[in-house]
Amino acid sequence: MNPKSTTISANGREYRIPNRPVAVICIDGCEDEYINVAIAHGRAPNLLRMSAAGYRGMTRAALPTFTNVNNCAIVTGTPPNQTGIAGNYILDPETGEEVMTNSSKFLENETILAAASHAGRKVAMVTAKDKLRELLAKNMDGISFSAEKADEVSEEVHGIADVVGLVGPMPQIYSADASLYVLRAGVKLLEQGTSDFLYLSLTDYMQHKYAPDEPESLDFYEGIDREIGQLLELGAIVGATADHGMNGKCHADGSINVLYLETELEKKFGEGCRVICPITDPYVVHHGALGAAVNVYLSDGHDRAAVGRWILAQPGVAEVYDRESAAEKLALPANRIGDFFVLSTRNAVIGRTPEHHDLSKLDGSLRSHGGRYEEMVPLVLSEPLNADYRARAAADPRNFDIFDFVCNGVATS
Ligand SMILES: [Zn+2]
Repeated sequence: MNPKSTTISANGREYRIPNRPVAVICIDGCEDEYINVAIAHGRAPNLLRMSAAGYRGMTRAALPTFTNVNNCAIVTGTPPNQTGIAGNYILDPETGEEVMTNSSKFLENETILAAASHAGRKVAMVTAKDKLRELLAKNMDGISFSAEKADEVSEEVHGIADVVGLVGPMPQIYSADASLYVLRAGVKLLEQGTSDFLYLSLTDYMQHKYAPDEPESLDFYEGIDREIGQLLELGAIVGATADHGMNGKCHADGSINVLYLETELEKKFGEGCRVICPITDPYVVHHGALGAAVNVYLSDGHDRAAVGRWILAQPGVAEVYDRESAAEKLALPANRIGDFFVLSTRNAVIGRTPEHHDLSKLDGSLRSHGGRYEEMVPLVLSEPLNADYRARAAADPRNFDIFDFVCNGVATS
């Protein structure tokens, strides 16, 4: 039975939730090239069909292009200056401590998922990594669990008593299956009629490890496409986007292209320069905590303008913003970024000091994200857009507008 259509409001925007099941997917780290190559190899027939019958275009993620930043933006429909989430890892302005933002106490506004659940929709939110689950499930009724901890669920906390019985054995977190499990869970919940409003958030382990044309990537995208096909078959309106793209971060000779900015700053300007890498999270095997955006904090006594100019001149640095400009131009929360917010060039990453980064697990190569060059990501919808949203899609759509597109923009809703 189809759900009733409902209009909800979240963070000042109205969402007309269609009277059909809805599945919004965040394909973590999905540079558009992965979809292009998979389609070119005939491995993604459902994404191809969606592109032709529905909509496929590009959309702009929020900077810095990291997972927590963009997942929070997507589920709230707002940029980081409203979510308060500007990195996986920040300097907490309240305590001065370096902390992970893997807790809903850092999320400053409300989610569309919570609003939909309070309006009576059967909401399910499934993530690959457990770090995102509690953060995104803020104030939500319904089902929320991660593939990573699929065997540690309870009715009380997760809204579901048995995931393994429903979806199958729990996958390893560093695997393609960690993401495919999330999609399979969505299919099962829809099939059972347990849920009709889904947010499914994958993990980018595979994209960090493999370029789009490698066989492992093609197999992975074929798997993603197969599950999307199931969601479509079950009558869902499907919308897919990404939290960020992914680029190789090596020189042309294949060596890793990293600037250890704290080391270099201290050499040049002495003590009191701290670099915080917002990509830092508990899962560092695939990127060694090296990303394409960092925050720089300076102690008093430094000539800020001189330091900013010097950072911009360094190889591997593309853009430098002071706190005020970053807050204004990039919609970042001023209290959770550094004196400078620094973005790398396309094939470079910025680190702190060599001691802060374990490169031993990287197999000598590195793919990562976080900066401007991982900003443009795909937006794929199973339904055609109405005239208003076609115009919006042709302007400057954001990945965190995806619920708006799916709820208010599809021609059939
Ligand atoms: Zn990600």
